[in-house]
Amino acid sequence: MTVLLISNEFKYETEAVIKLFFPVRRFGFVNMTTAPSSYPDGDFALLELNQGCVISVVRIGDKTLEKQLTLESGFSDSDAERAICRLLFLSLRELTGIYPRWGMLTGVRPVKLIYRLRAKGLTNGEISRFLAEQYYVSEEKSRLAIATADAQSEALKSLPKRGASLYVSIPFCPSRCSYCSFVSQTVAQFGRLMPDYVRLLCDELDAAAGVFSDLGLVLDTVYFGGGTPTSLTAEQLALLMEKIRAKFDLSRLREYTVEAGRPDTVTAEKLHVIKQLGADRISVNPQTLVPGVLEAIGRKHTVEQFFGAYELAEKTGFKAINVDLIAGLPTDTPYGYASTVDRVIALKPANITVHALSVKRAADLIQDSDAVSDAVTASEMINSSTEKLTSTGYVPYYLYRQKNQVGNLENVGWMRDNAVGIYNVNMMEEVQTVIAVGAGGSTKLVAGDAKIERIYNPKYPLEYIKRFNETVLPRKTEAKLRLEKILAEQ
Ligand code: SF4
Repeated sequence: MTVLLISNEFKYETEAVIKLFFPVRRFGFVNMTTAPSSYPDGDFALLELNQGCVISVVRIGDKTLEKQLTLESGFSDSDAERAICRLLFLSLRELTGIYPRWGMLTGVRPVKLIYRLRAKGLTNGEISRFLAEQYYVSEEKSRLAIATADAQSEALKSLPKRGASLYVSIPFCPSRCSYCSFVSQTVAQFGRLMPDYVRLLCDELDAAAGVFSDLGLVLDTVYFGGGTPTSLTAEQLALLMEKIRAKFDLSRLREYTVEAGRPDTVTAEKLHVIKQLGADRISVNPQTLVPGVLEAIGRKHTVEQFFGAYELAEKTGFKAINVDLIAGLPTDTPYGYASTVDRVIALKPANITVHALSVKRAADLIQDSDAVSDAVTASEMINSSTEKLTSTGYVPYYLYRQKNQVGNLENVGWMRDNAVGIYNVNMMEEVQTVIAVGAGGSTKLVAGDAKIERIYNPKYPLEYIKRFNETVLPRKTEAKLRLEKILAEQ
């Protein structure tokens, strides 16, 4: 598809709108100062800003639509950009018959927008109207975002002063899932790095503990994520968790999570260690309970292994168990997805997190022509699970979107009985500093004015090990100095 930008440079924004309709299609942008004498061959979008007027001509297949809008005098660049995006969105909606449920809202954190509108004094009804009129957001997505804002408000109110969280990155997995977009390496190929990795992670935990104690930070939550943290042996997990227990003040800790992830890595011994050393929340993630789909996405565990791991986690006595699911997986069907959701709900886990597949990776798995039908199917799947979860007492408590998600959908953390995952809320709403350790870890320093400063660790375990002294440790010192400055300014 060719996109002609005439007298404007709104490439980033218009691309985001086109991707709502054609997530995996490639398009070429051409900048021009005047409209061409003839239209290009094939599908195209001509987007022109001309003396206070925005014009769009869009052709998809054999249908062409032309729209025009006059801007108010004294318009700004962002007024022009919004008007162009709006014409483009409406044209594509009409030409494709696709009605994105989040409308032209492309930001990753819709709940933040709800807070901003509430701060301006808008009621829930006015917020829904605003989202529908300005962004074409459907009523059900407005309701979802508003309900999420309500559910997480208690957790946000009780944030401790000078609170910060600790994130421990374990970027190893038993095998690589075909849709994975994380930095994670297989145990078979890189398992030999794990002893050194754990040893250095302990050293980095020492340095992180120094940041907490030197700055008087209150450790609010701890989160082991990955990858698959339970790819480590019970002894390796114990080393890390004992280090945390010895070096950090856990007296005000509100939550401690270990994402077990893959059921095939869960053993009674590991769960016992995790529980004994302080974690009260755990994730056991099947993504799907359809055997053929598990196989298609390269997860080397069975449905039975998931139920076995879940039962073990229940017996070990965790306060909360989370189960991750994905809608829109290759070869899955609405029927298969619905049965997965039913079987998981029947277990009554404290949390169920429903993700929509990220198309970035799915581009490797599906053909362009399948993308639209997959988007429709994923949307149906998400709608059906939303209904089931709501009717069985689950409430959405955190919500985020990723670029390139199938159907421009969302990921939602659901909870029952107020079992809010505090770390997830803090992360999504970016309200608390997170000190990250391990390869791929990203330390986020939250300044009072909602500005975020990020410090990245090396991405891969080998790089992490090799550059530990010259990069990883100095970055902890840098985090301390920058955070000290931020705290002094608050
Ligand atoms: S378990 Fe998660 S992190 Fe590991 S390969 Fe699969 S999707 Fe990626």
